[in-house]
Amino acid sequence: MHLAIPRLGNGAGLIMPENAPAMSSRRFFSPAPVEERAKVLLVDDRPDKLLALQAALAGLDEDLIIAHSGKEALRQLLVHDVAVILLDVNMPVMDGFETAALIRQRHNNEKTPIIFISALNPVENHVTRGYSLGAVDYIFSPVVSDVLQAKVAVFVDLYKRTREVKRRADWLRQEAELRAANLELRLDSLLNRLNVGVFRANRSGRLLSANPAYHRLFSINPSTTASSIDMNHFFVSEGDRLGLMARLLANGKIQEAYVQQRRMDGEVLWTSLSMAVSTDVDGTQSIDGMVEDITARKETEAALISKAEELARSNAELEQFAFIASHDLQEPLRMISSFASLMTSRYGGQLDTKGLSFLLQIELSAKRMQELVCSILSYSKTGKMVQRSPVDTADLVQRTLAGFEDALSEAAVEIDYTRLPVLDGDQVMLTQVFQNLIGNALKFRHPQRNPQIRIDAEQIEGAWLFTIADNGIGIPPEFHEKIFGIFQRLHTRDEYPGTGIGLAICKKVIERHGGVITIESHPDQGSTFRFTIPVPDPDARSSQT
Ligand code: ADP
Repeated sequence: MHLAIPRLGNGAGLIMPENAPAMSSRRFFSPAPVEERAKVLLVDDRPDKLLALQAALAGLDEDLIIAHSGKEALRQLLVHDVAVILLDVNMPVMDGFETAALIRQRHNNEKTPIIFISALNPVENHVTRGYSLGAVDYIFSPVVSDVLQAKVAVFVDLYKRTREVKRRADWLRQEAELRAANLELRLDSLLNRLNVGVFRANRSGRLLSANPAYHRLFSINPSTTASSIDMNHFFVSEGDRLGLMARLLANGKIQEAYVQQRRMDGEVLWTSLSMAVSTDVDGTQSIDGMVEDITARKETEAALISKAEELARSNAELEQFAFIASHDLQEPLRMISSFASLMTSRYGGQLDTKGLSFLLQIELSAKRMQELVCSILSYSKTGKMVQRSPVDTADLVQRTLAGFEDALSEAAVEIDYTRLPVLDGDQVMLTQVFQNLIGNALKFRHPQRNPQIRIDAEQIEGAWLFTIADNGIGIPPEFHEKIFGIFQRLHTRDEYPGTGIGLAICKKVIERHGGVITIESHPDQGSTFRFTIPVPDPDARSSQT
């Protein structure tokens, strides 16, 4: 008996599987096809006939396995995976049909092609019996070499192709399993390192799995099994829990819900909870997504809110104080002023020049102090409550300019104010803004050129943007912030009159309307003030004049 030893083929070439990405990584290539020789089992009790079969199949270059009886054939099939079996019908003890019946009972050989070889003349029921036992062909000896070789070659080819397809399918399955395992590993390591709690629970809230951060967040002992934990117990308020679950089941997900939860050790924390309902391949629904401890953020927020409230309270108190103080100071100031003038008119004659100049100083200082007190009073009265109504800003500018008649007649002033809108705002407060800004543009005019003032407005997203630009003396950039403070001036009163309250009032008014005021200016290059007045809703009453 010749027992064939399988020989590996020389297939060194690599074949890319279909649809594989063109990457250089070795893992994306399927293994090379194996050029292994196939095995053909020849079963006959007569050595001469076996020799004849071997000679007929020599040209195939496959491994031929010999068995001299049905019993030996079955033994060979235990150790060899064969492509096709040539089975002599007429054998002693166990004939070909009996052998075929036993071969078919083996799971591995349920479908192995069997070619029956018979020396007998065909009797119809003989052939039928052969086919009923799963014969794929029936040939008669003496065999014709070419015919036999061609028939066996077809089955060998089929066997090799099937083997290759199976091998590739196995390789692809292994590769898919490997990738899935790698992915799972990476996901696990990510979840383990994550600082955010990630969990999976069933629909009733019992945990299925949770990462270490989840355990830490709720002070769960790491050795506790997930299924013993019911996440419903972590909610502080039953109302919160029911509300969230109802939203989750209705919408399929919840994004960053802020809710108070209680740890296993009883400590209460603020959490941001995101959940989503997911459905497994078997149709089971579970709850995924994340939980994050936001206690620190919430505490900072609460501290900020209380600080802002405290600040607003103290601001209101200060404003109240400024209002009362300035109001009460007015009376004694009036007294100083009027007694100083009384003194001058009645007793001026009895004083020398020095005495008269002292009295004048008292009068001037009292006047100045009155101005300052008036400024504080008007600042503290400004912006207490914004009373909104439609304001025609073109009309407002026109009336403001009328108030500056003297200044306008002094020099050739060019003023351009087209396209001003009607907007929602406080008429009195906005008048103060235009009065101060236009007044400053006229006051801080450049000594060498005629004043030019351009007032404009454009609608930007959600607001009106006003621009008041002049060609005056300008302001160095380092003072741009300072000039919006109370009593902040860049010049002496001899150079330019004023108390330094105008821009502070503008800032307060604009901010009370929800807008912002900015300046763009350089010395000698004029100044451009810009401010916004938000539009309460996109369809708010506004039009261009
Ligand atoms: P006041 O006009 O009474 O001095 P403001 O608060 O209106 O007070 O202005 C503060 C300072 O800002 C002014 O003293 C001036 O130095 C500067 N300033 C304001 N507007 C202009 C302007 N249009 N051009 C140049 N400087 C200006």
